[in-house]
Amino acid sequence: DSSGEPPYLKGLNAPQREAVLTTEGPVLVLAGAGTGKTAALTARLGHLLWTRKAYPSEILSVTFTNKAAREMRERVGRLVGDVVEGMPWLGTFHAIGAKMLRRHAELVGLQSNFTILDTDDQLRLLKQLVIAADIDEKRFPARSLAGLIDEWKNKGLIPSQIDAGESERYANGRGGELYQQYQTRLAALNACDFGDLLLHMLVILKTHREVLEQYQQRFRYIMVDEYQDTNSVQYLWLRLLAQERKNLCCVGDDDQSIYSWRGAQVENILKFEKDFPGAKVIRLEQNYRSTPHILAAASGVIANNSGRLGKTLWTEEAEGEKVKVLGVWDGPEEARRVGDEIEAAERNGLSLDKVAILVRAQHQTREFEDRFIAIGMNYRIIGGFRFYERAEIRDALAYLRIVHQSADDLAFERIVNVPKRGLGDKAVQKLHMLARAEGIPLSTAAARILDTDELTGAARKSLGNFVIDLARWRRMANDLPHAELARQILDESGYTGVLQAEKSVEASGRLENLNELVRAMEEYESLGAFLEHVSLVMDNEAQADEAKVTIMTIHAAKGLEYDTVFLVGWEEGLFPSQRSLDEGGNASLEEERRLAYVAITRARRKAVILHAANRRIYGQWTSSIPSRFVGELPKAHVESENSMSGGESLWRANWSERADPFADVARGTGRGPGWQRAAGVKDGSFKDGGTFTSRTFSREPSRVVEARASAVSLGN
Ligand code: ATP
Ligand code: MG
Repeated sequence: DSSGEPPYLKGLNAPQREAVLTTEGPVLVLAGAGTGKTAALTARLGHLLWTRKAYPSEILSVTFTNKAAREMRERVGRLVGDVVEGMPWLGTFHAIGAKMLRRHAELVGLQSNFTILDTDDQLRLLKQLVIAADIDEKRFPARSLAGLIDEWKNKGLIPSQIDAGESERYANGRGGELYQQYQTRLAALNACDFGDLLLHMLVILKTHREVLEQYQQRFRYIMVDEYQDTNSVQYLWLRLLAQERKNLCCVGDDDQSIYSWRGAQVENILKFEKDFPGAKVIRLEQNYRSTPHILAAASGVIANNSGRLGKTLWTEEAEGEKVKVLGVWDGPEEARRVGDEIEAAERNGLSLDKVAILVRAQHQTREFEDRFIAIGMNYRIIGGFRFYERAEIRDALAYLRIVHQSADDLAFERIVNVPKRGLGDKAVQKLHMLARAEGIPLSTAAARILDTDELTGAARKSLGNFVIDLARWRRMANDLPHAELARQILDESGYTGVLQAEKSVEASGRLENLNELVRAMEEYESLGAFLEHVSLVMDNEAQADEAKVTIMTIHAAKGLEYDTVFLVGWEEGLFPSQRSLDEGGNASLEEERRLAYVAITRARRKAVILHAANRRIYGQWTSSIPSRFVGELPKAHVESENSMSGGESLWRANWSERADPFADVARGTGRGPGWQRAAGVKDGSFKDGGTFTSRTFSREPSRVVEARASAVSLGN
């Protein structure tokens, strides 16, 4: 009789129940987005506790993010009440690895209070080693070595397992040797990095039978969410722990594997059945999240990938609206449209908490942040910093501040040795002493100290160069457009050069952010006006308890759902990313397509896809074409709208690449001369001599300026 049914089974469908109730033996739940995999896993956890098959401390549950772990803990708490106290082994791979390693640290030469280094610390340490090894850091950036070491750790390789071929990948064969030195150095510091949390534990489990047996006994049940994105070291670790009892339940979706760039291996799904023969494979086919239109759109796109395991998806949800595809003129209009749509939905009673904007690359958030601040809409950024809080943006802003305002000591301190120019703490201390003694700002002290013999050798020389640079930039500030000034400062200071040399995914993300910063500057009249805007933005933290729109990358949105989702920047070169196109391989394009699938399937009721016809890149306008993924959306489930009244053909006919689209219309819109200068109509304009006017597209530039002006006055 179902009235006596435990609460966690309520509403679950038959295959979900099977996943919950098959507690013994290996289980693989393989199913598409929104079919209730995470829900089933949570119920399974509840079931194990409710029926007292295990104590909370005997269940290992792995989630992909800390947030997901928190949610699962709360949900299980609601399902089975106070039984869930503790749940010490519910968390991400990293969190669980850290907890275990603290108990056995001595087995790998650490103390239990070891420090976990963040990526900055890690990099600093590697740089020291690279320099000490007499390797030209410019040619062989420490960051490349860091990436390589991470890769090895993700594969579960310790230094002695790095063969000559692998070693060859850094500094002519010295990779393995430096990896070894790095590990030795970490041990001496009683520290480890993120990769070590699992790698050390793997080594311990492999080499200490008694430890392995202890955990094999302890963990009666093991469960893993987002299994398609586990990497090799995680897989090996799981396999060891589950080998004895074999009560391992993994849930995943091969179509949502989007972390191969971080070493994830979708093949782990195929390995599962091999390593755990007789595994029960459960497929869930009913989607409870999205409307049929959204589901069909997502399925239509992912159908273009090859080598899929393949699955059926259906839903009983009401038909709802078609997926909306919106072509807009440019980035600012994209942000404006999204803001307008959200305001309209809010007026109809939708909470901002139920709205998300998903971007492909971090730098895309800036346009939306600026717009939302202008119109006073609360937002949060998940899985990253708000744009103006990112390290490289703060560095760039510090340069601009010190050029704009020579007494800004905080800015001076931030960048006096960034990028590294051999001005260590000692030299900076001397500057401080002089500045204090004479009551002058640091940047003035920097010039004066050169008249003394306080500094010698390399420090003296590089401070001298820096003082000369600063003076030159201040002169340039008088006649260069400020965006151009920023670009030159970033180049001449060596800041962009260092990032370019790194050639890592992360470094290219930082470079994109810097480009975006320069792009943002072009919208302000002067450097001063821009810096003022930034300081107001920084101060604009919304109240914690107010509803907020969420802005995040598609990667960070995995496993989440929102009523309304805006998918922005669906243009070739942005999404799919330029990097994936340059690499040329089909594999990287297919990973982008899986991202598109993840993106669309985050939406419950409404999905809006936007693409802009023009993007400003390095101060120049380039026309862009809609993403191939837009073309792959099945027409029957899509409704298209183009905000340009003349339609695509008109703007294509009138448009030559790299022109300033507003050379005509910008005048009299309230944008100042700085903006016009910066936008620069150097090379190209309208094909037929300027017949292109605001008639052909719907934009309202003056409104942006007004809105920003009011944001500024509020701050006073
Ligand atoms: P993803 O692949 O995106 O991680 P998922 O398969 O983990 O998705 P869930 O997040 O568990 O899916 O569930 C999607 C939505 O469907 C959630 O809102 C969940 O509460 C709901 N749901 C899951 N199972 C059922 C069910 N049997 N009846 C009603 N709603 C359900
Ligand atoms: Mg899920």
